[in-house]
Amino acid sequence: LTRLGVRAIQPYQPGKPIDELARELGLESANIIKLASNENPLGPSPKVLVAIESAATELSRYPDGNGFVLKHALAEKYGIQQEQVTLGNGSNDVLELIARAFAGPGDEVIFSEYAFVVYPHATKAVEATPVVVPAVNWGHDLTAMANAVTDKTKLVFVANPNNPTGTWFSKEALEAFLGMIPNQVIVVLDEAYIEYVEDPNFPNGLDYLSQYPNLVVTRTFSKAYGLAGLRVGYSLSSPAIADILNRLRQAFNVNSLALVAAVAALSDHQYLVDSIAINQQGMAQLESGFSELGLNYIPSKGNFIAVEVGTQSQTIYQQLLAAGVIVRPVANYQMPNHLRVSIGLPEENQRLLTVLKQLVAA
Ligand code: PMP
Repeated sequence: LTRLGVRAIQPYQPGKPIDELARELGLESANIIKLASNENPLGPSPKVLVAIESAATELSRYPDGNGFVLKHALAEKYGIQQEQVTLGNGSNDVLELIARAFAGPGDEVIFSEYAFVVYPHATKAVEATPVVVPAVNWGHDLTAMANAVTDKTKLVFVANPNNPTGTWFSKEALEAFLGMIPNQVIVVLDEAYIEYVEDPNFPNGLDYLSQYPNLVVTRTFSKAYGLAGLRVGYSLSSPAIADILNRLRQAFNVNSLALVAAVAALSDHQYLVDSIAINQQGMAQLESGFSELGLNYIPSKGNFIAVEVGTQSQTIYQQLLAAGVIVRPVANYQMPNHLRVSIGLPEENQRLLTVLKQLVAA
């Protein structure tokens, strides 16, 4: 009954609700910490809560299907035209729209080994052919990716930084890569974690939009802006690409609370500053904690870090879970020796390290 390709798609494996997990483990929900989905440990900005409360009185109305106010705020922030912005139900929605718009059966879509799981998912959903390019030191091999382009290639997905590895590429590397990709191939530069990066060598995709009309930059409110539960993300591109995506999207793909929350989140600069600071502090805490335990990790520029715990990773994952610490196994990314840990609050990071110490010493 289904289209042929659909059964080749692995369903996304969500974690259990915390209350349900607590019941199974015989723990208090309040004693469980979740370091599994690269969420912001600070909770949402207080400005967002105020905005949502006042918007709630309008819940019987449909949202603004054009997201006018949010697009305006984004265009202003980035100094671009509103016509370059496409809003999505999370940036996942935009990534899927891009795949639907540009690829289909017989087409090739290139991404890296250890790339974000939505790229193979979106590729298979449109029955295009995934072309997976081997990574180098866990990161994208941009030269090999550009060399993998054929007449059939429609799309190349790159993430900077990448999830789940946290690896990244420089301005120089991105420039060389963009220069190698033919104009008719769409390059998707996924910058879900860019707000966390403060390295002067790190490229900002927006700087390349005017030179490369085939470039689409995707970003999200789920990470540094702390709105994962509301589902709002966006792409920035040429107006021509945004026009295509706009034709394909659902009319009301971003809900009314998400729209006002995102605008409020953009206005709360201090929250962003605090989020970046707590991430830097937590990253340093985990790096030195892992080193003390003799564990290797992949240096990361995101709000998460992949730590190498060895062939027993699944057991360690289960033991952490039993102790009320949820992390993310990454065996489905062909990284069976690693666990991905999201950066939490200092006391959460400490608790992870304390439990992990008992496990790796055992
Ligand atoms: N891209 C990357 C690299 C991600 O890690 C994520 C979140 N896991 C997303 C995109 C999608 O995030 P969202 O749909 O919440 O915007």
